[in-house]
Amino acid sequence: MNLELNSLSASSASSAVKSSVLVIGGGLAGLSAAVALAGRGFTVTVLESRARLGGRASSFLDPTTGQMVDACQHVSMGCCTNLAHFLRTVGIDHFLAPQRKLYFITPDRRKSVFKADPWPAPLHLGRALFGAHYLTPGDKLRVLYGLVAMLWAKPDDDPPLLEWLQAHRQNRRTIDRFWRVVLTSALNETVDRVGFKYARKVFRDGFVRHRDGFVVHVPTVPLGRLYGDELRAWLSKHGVEVKENAGVKRVEVGEPKVSHLLLRDGSTLAADWYVLAVPFDRVTELFPEELVARDPYFGNVKNLAPSSITSVHLWFDRSVMALPHAVLIDSLGQWVFNRGEVAPSEFYIQVVVSAARDLKSLGREEIQRQIVMELARLFPATTSARLLRAKVVMEHAATFSAVPGVDRWRPSQASPLANLAVAGDWTATGWPATMEGAVRSGYLAAEVILARSGFPERLVQPDLGGSSE
Ligand SMILES: Cc1cc2nc3c(=O)[nH]c(=O)nc-3n(C[C@H](O)[C@H](O)[C@H](O)COP(=O)(O)OP(=O)(O)OC[C@H]3O[C@@H](n4cnc5c(N)ncnc54)[C@H](O)[C@@H]3O)c2cc1C
Repeated sequence: MNLELNSLSASSASSAVKSSVLVIGGGLAGLSAAVALAGRGFTVTVLESRARLGGRASSFLDPTTGQMVDACQHVSMGCCTNLAHFLRTVGIDHFLAPQRKLYFITPDRRKSVFKADPWPAPLHLGRALFGAHYLTPGDKLRVLYGLVAMLWAKPDDDPPLLEWLQAHRQNRRTIDRFWRVVLTSALNETVDRVGFKYARKVFRDGFVRHRDGFVVHVPTVPLGRLYGDELRAWLSKHGVEVKENAGVKRVEVGEPKVSHLLLRDGSTLAADWYVLAVPFDRVTELFPEELVARDPYFGNVKNLAPSSITSVHLWFDRSVMALPHAVLIDSLGQWVFNRGEVAPSEFYIQVVVSAARDLKSLGREEIQRQIVMELARLFPATTSARLLRAKVVMEHAATFSAVPGVDRWRPSQASPLANLAVAGDWTATGWPATMEGAVRSGYLAAEVILARSGFPERLVQPDLGGSSE
């Protein structure tokens, strides 16, 4: 058993071994809770409504080719310490490749390389910022002023970001070409809708606190393999039972506890402990209406709003770009990922548009057309390549929308029901909706169960560069 997960004393572990846990939802929140609790002697069963693990971070099988295709490229950053810990614990961290250089491209095909110098943080990225070809020297000073003011603000301040930027000397160009470029994909929300708090967190944790915070980690295998076969091997070795196609219909409550679960197939299951790890828009339907109406812990979740992500998958008959990825300035697409030759003479490119609610009215064909035209302008080899296949995936409820003050609607993992902990990227993690947030929530939910069982233990990992504010 992994040493990182085996720190309970013999007596506490043997007490815990008698306890059973039902985890509802096989996304990263549920899986990380399952891994943490199984490693501490709990008997864990994961109930997942779909026929695969990984939740939003998963793949589908392309019916034409049989290839496993990610619903959308998922990347993490060096500052995602809990996700990194989870991947290490289950032995799949080697499937992520760190990108220490980020390539920013403007429509005129000019490129800036964003990389760290061998200086201590926060100086390590100073030269990268000042080398950005898409900002004037005056813009760079404005950005620097904005960053310093942002870092001096109180961590819990959460006014509308756009108003704050305008009040801190940011102009149209710095907003569009700097703040928007970084934040829309990091927070999956537009600068005019998002709150200040998580924008500050992105810059603080990602770019200022530690030299490695900004490094982007890209999976080298499909997510379906990462959180499917690879993770499953660890789960089965540690006695975690995974039941797929096992949707939960109702959480039956005999207050102040969960009494049992009613599954969609009519069967029932009971355990000592429960972890609810479903997306925010599936929570209230699982509980008695009267409980949701009476208790804001459950009812508040209804105030979270969704934000969408669109990904455009393109397979060409030849390589169209040499870079591993590109961040696009003044473009419809935001990130382009070059997945290389995935089959003989099939080169796979994925373009991601976060906070994509405006794309909905365009329709899939038009989105694809505009994205391919954009690629042809940026990477001329696209013009002579043949597009073999394409797929546009629109995730309407990709994440919750991080509007100002959103944290007042995010519940803690400690539910008022004595044997229920709640996890999910939408719970109170101090992070935006990300894989890191999901894993943090899973660890926090496991902490709740450990504490309520009488074996309190800290599972959440420190931030890069020390503990949080
Ligand atoms: C298109 C897209 C791109 C993204 N890109 C990134 C990225 O690059 N980096 C990043 O960090 N994050 C990214 N995210 C966000 C990231 O995917 C999520 O934050 C994270 O995966 C959420 O994990 P979770 O476990 O909280 O929820 P989920 O992954 O949604 O897991 C919940 C699980 O519960 C199951 N479930 C639901 N109802 C029931 C029920 N009644 N019974 C049983 N099971 C049920 C669902 O099927 C699902 O498997 C992206 C998300 C999307 C949609």
